[in-house]
Amino acid sequence: MIIKEGRTEILTYLEDASNFREGSAEKLYIPENEADLVSLLTECANNGVPITVSSGGTGTVGGRIPKEGVIVSMERFNRIIKVDKEQQSAVLQAGVIVNDFLNVIEDDGLFYPPFPTERTAFIGGNVATNASGEYSFRFGPTRKYVKKIRMVLTDGRILEVERGAIREKDGIVDYGLLQIPLPSYRTPPVKCSAGYFSREGMDGIELLIGSEGTLGVITEVGVSLIKALSSRFIVIVFLKDEEDIPQKIQEIKRICGENLLSLEFFDKGSLKFLKNDFPFIPDDTCAIYAESVSTTEEMERWLNIAERYNAVDTVLAEDRTNYDKLIDFRHRLPENINAYFKKIGIVKVAMDMAVPEDSFSEMYGFYKGIMRNERMRSILFGHIGENHLHFNLFPSSDEEKMRAQEIYEICVKKVLLLGGTVAAEHGIGKIKHKWLGIMLGAEGLREMAKIKKTFDPYCILGLDNIFSAELLR
Ligand SMILES: Cc1cc2nc3c(=O)[nH]c(=O)nc-3n(C[C@H](O)[C@H](O)[C@H](O)COP(=O)(O)OP(=O)(O)OC[C@H]3O[C@@H](n4cnc5c(N)ncnc54)[C@H](O)[C@@H]3O)c2cc1C
Repeated sequence: MIIKEGRTEILTYLEDASNFREGSAEKLYIPENEADLVSLLTECANNGVPITVSSGGTGTVGGRIPKEGVIVSMERFNRIIKVDKEQQSAVLQAGVIVNDFLNVIEDDGLFYPPFPTERTAFIGGNVATNASGEYSFRFGPTRKYVKKIRMVLTDGRILEVERGAIREKDGIVDYGLLQIPLPSYRTPPVKCSAGYFSREGMDGIELLIGSEGTLGVITEVGVSLIKALSSRFIVIVFLKDEEDIPQKIQEIKRICGENLLSLEFFDKGSLKFLKNDFPFIPDDTCAIYAESVSTTEEMERWLNIAERYNAVDTVLAEDRTNYDKLIDFRHRLPENINAYFKKIGIVKVAMDMAVPEDSFSEMYGFYKGIMRNERMRSILFGHIGENHLHFNLFPSSDEEKMRAQEIYEICVKKVLLLGGTVAAEHGIGKIKHKWLGIMLGAEGLREMAKIKKTFDPYCILGLDNIFSAELLR
């Protein structure tokens, strides 16, 4: 097992894609195998040393960044154990990089439907955060494709859970090794990565997915796959009017149905961050971005949609070069925003909330109302097909920073009133406790802390992820 010490040696592990800057750790351990991991965890348990699991470091909520103790990096757990072409499934170690996995299964004519957007992430990180991906509009999040999880608990025991083997019954999820009471809150039926999953009759594997490194260290994952996708095209429709976007989206969903793989939105403000890289963007427009299965009929359908909506311009790409350029269009926005505001020293306030489909129009109007009434710079973009937009605020003074937090809270309350979630895909980590507290209430947080204590009685693993470590005392 490799061990590194000293702040400069481990500095990169004290960061992720969040602005969380309170990272500190004594040592970094890189185990080679499960035996190494078991001995590390039991040693930490015996000595009461906090330990935080680190994977690709692409998380956006500070989950892999410890405040104290040690880090365990999963980078050596990088073996794809088995790809079963017939059964369309695979078993892989948790430290496999998503991109490597996608390349290997492509050679077998297979595809991993969660298709996570940030492909330097590890599979274990994706499972721990229930990550969504480019086609989650069509296929759903990671959760839907996890068939098996192998996890090392802090007392050194191994918990292996297969989908279908354990179900909640009479308020208890019985793992054999552990019995877990079902919390009284329920995970809302929207795109969601907020706290431990809880539904009546739920499969035992669901609690482990999205548990953000707090219950055990995932070492191995079994996933289901599908046949490789047929060719696709991307279309971007540039529009003048932002007001009736939800109605248009409803109509597009009705018209295009199953053939749509993704359906995204960029408001006028967000397109300004892309204009330098993509000069074809017409001034003063917003955009609907979609990816679809490639057929002549489908392309014609989109050209009709663009005409009916009086599009200012429409860009459609099917051939490899142009397709890749438009993929880049979609990916470039978060990068450009982060780079620009880092340069001018502004920390963005980024929301990641989703609501039920029938409330989306109301939520969209709510965001737009705030944008009209506030002077602070803000943008709205993201996964509109899943009723999930990222509302980003860019406060440029202390006064605006306070106002941004007030606006966040107002939006949280509105989302919850509409039956939504405070975290749709990025999780809670160390920076969204307050919003999860409003969503699940003090009792919900206490119930989660109790579950965590049953898995990790030493209270050393992933401290301050999802809820404050204070609740474990
Ligand atoms: C440009 C960009 C775009 C992104 N787009 C999306 C997107 O579209 N959708 C989306 O959902 N996310 C997105 N993300 C966020 C990120 O990619 C996901 O959260 C990802 O799943 C994190 O995986 P990771 O391997 O980087 O994990 P890390 O950041 O290293 O860790 C994340 C959390 O998982 C825990 N963890 C990691 N590995 C394990 C393990 N083996 N066992 C137990 N716990 C573990 C950690 O302790 C931590 O709490 C994006 C990030 C970036 C930078």
